[in-house]
Amino acid sequence: MLRLWRYYLDFALFPPLALGLALYDARSLGWVALCGLGILIWTLAEYWTHRVILHGPLWHATHERHHRVPREHVEIIWWYAPLGFFLLFWLVPIAILVGLMLGYCVYLAMHHAAHHLPSSWLAANRRRHAHHHLLTRVNFGISSPLWDHVFRTAR
Ligand SMILES: [Zn+2]
Ligand SMILES: [Zn+2]
Repeated sequence: MLRLWRYYLDFALFPPLALGLALYDARSLGWVALCGLGILIWTLAEYWTHRVILHGPLWHATHERHHRVPREHVEIIWWYAPLGFFLLFWLVPIAILVGLMLGYCVYLAMHHAAHHLPSSWLAANRRRHAHHHLLTRVNFGISSPLWDHVFRTAR
């Protein structure tokens, strides 16, 4: 059974967490630059995770289902993201961690908009992602089309 709280948990958790960490830790322009780097790293990691892991030899049953039934709320394993970011907390500077979290928040918002908001909202994003659902080998980026252009998978 689909449990909606699993879908919405990260929406509730990560925006305030990223904001709280930023208010606590941000000190300088260098911090903001590192945070921007974290966002960029997120978009790259998201692109390759989607392309290689979700669409590669480890083609994930839940992702396959998402491609078949895009209007359904994707049921993710709820502790993946909290555990991942908790581990990253000990491994990378907080500025980069906040950037990664913000990138993840943008990903959540863009993917949600592509499937669940009125079609006029972020229409280009919706079209781009609809092509991915249809053709599966193009438009792997959700939060940004940047890496699809770099790696020639944009359509
Ligand atoms: Zn989708
Ligand atoms: Zn996909």
